[in-house]
Amino acid sequence: MILISACLAGIECRYDGGSNEHKEIKKLIEEKKAILVCPEQLGGLTTPRTPCEILGGDGEDVLLKRAKIIDKNGKDQTKGFVKGADETLKIAKLYGVTKAILKQRSPSCGCGMIYDGTFSGTKKTGDGVTATLLKKQGIVIWNEENHPWK
Ligand code: SF4
Repeated sequence: MILISACLAGIECRYDGGSNEHKEIKKLIEEKKAILVCPEQLGGLTTPRTPCEILGGDGEDVLLKRAKIIDKNGKDQTKGFVKGADETLKIAKLYGVTKAILKQRSPSCGCGMIYDGTFSGTKKTGDGVTATLLKKQGIVIWNEENHPWK
């Protein structure tokens, strides 16, 4: 079973109430090969919500309490993001997930590239907090640009 960021299948769970639909990713759901999660909604964040970025590190640093996740107004949202990662991992275990396709650059789902915490559009290498937690459990993660089902 493949775990997919819900916004990649057209679910309007993104911070601005939109989605990032990719037809070939949505097809995996229609073929019943994949399940959807939105870690930020699972963590109790609202939709729409103020955009958030990791400040002072990456997902690994957040899990080690060396960095936090703040919204654009400066409010600390770390707790909700960590909760969302934990709940996503629970779902992954229930379904025996071994692979995931997660949305690039998100502070939750980002895999390989995230924003740098300045809200200036600047990117840096690193993973989001959910992607980090899933990787630690041995789940193989791709993003919407490099997955093998294209
Ligand atoms: S948390 Fe993940 S699934 Fe939810 S909107 Fe952000 S990128 Fe998409």
